[in-house]
Amino acid sequence: MAGRVAGKAALVSGAATGIGQSIAMCLAAEGASVAVADIDAGRGADVVTAIREAGGKALFLSLDVTEEASWEAAIAATESEFGRLDILVNNAGIAIVESVDKMSFDDWRAVMAVNIDGVFLGTKHAVPAMRRAGGGSIVNISSILGLTGEEKLSAYCASKGAVRLFTKAVALECGRDGSGIRVNSIHPGYIHTAMTEETCRRDYGDIATGFAELGKLHPIGRVGEPEEIAAGVLYLASDESKFVTGSELAIDGGYTAA
Ligand code: NAP
Repeated sequence: MAGRVAGKAALVSGAATGIGQSIAMCLAAEGASVAVADIDAGRGADVVTAIREAGGKALFLSLDVTEEASWEAAIAATESEFGRLDILVNNAGIAIVESVDKMSFDDWRAVMAVNIDGVFLGTKHAVPAMRRAGGGSIVNISSILGLTGEEKLSAYCASKGAVRLFTKAVALECGRDGSGIRVNSIHPGYIHTAMTEETCRRDYGDIATGFAELGKLHPIGRVGEPEEIAAGVLYLASDESKFVTGSELAIDGGYTAA
């Protein structure tokens, strides 16, 4: 299949829904073979079916990003099925909303486990596989809340800020070791997904009002769509960005421009 990432093999974490699903479908539509990796096997299988029906190549992998053995198995399965790993998108993420004095240590650790431990583990095990492939691209999905703070989201902000600087540190390592591996972060504004629907219900009473109010926080006047994040991932995953590493791409309708 021709396309901007034709011939490449990708693994996308948290790909059963939302932004991850869009990323998986976009990479597959542009010619990549895609491992759809998630803890939700039912919805993950639906994404694989949709990709195959559209003429793309995909497989589902059961992956809990907080478990090192789960990452080892997922990357081995990707290499075994597709022969290589060229693209890793660390997309899985969770948010727990609570003021710092009321947040339990368990909740803090749960956010850190998925949002930053998961990114570390994925990167750690993808780098040797990408060396075997002669290079690669790692795209870490951070957030506008990795660039600016937000009340009642201290754990989320801390984890997403950590993703930003982890990305830059690994980009330096991989840039200087001649491995040909690039590492970049993306910082979405509020995006139309289940995660944001939850925010809408909690903070604004209903989804439509919530999205309208959240939209006003973005100078462009609306929240974003998952496909608008996938478009940024596609650029960073493709060879079009071969001189780009250690960068942070805000796709946020201007939210962080102020
Ligand atoms: P979402 O709709 O909640 O989807 C996240 C997916 O990741 C779900 O399928 C979820 O499964 C899965 N997941 C959760 N824990 C996992 C684990 N331990 N291992 C593997 N998969 C796991 O989220 P989204 O809105 O698409 O967000 C995707 C990424 O973008 C996240 O990193 C998020 O922080 C970031 N982001 C989102 C927004 C936004 O406005 N939506 C803005 C900025 C950044 P379950 O549903 O079964 O838990």
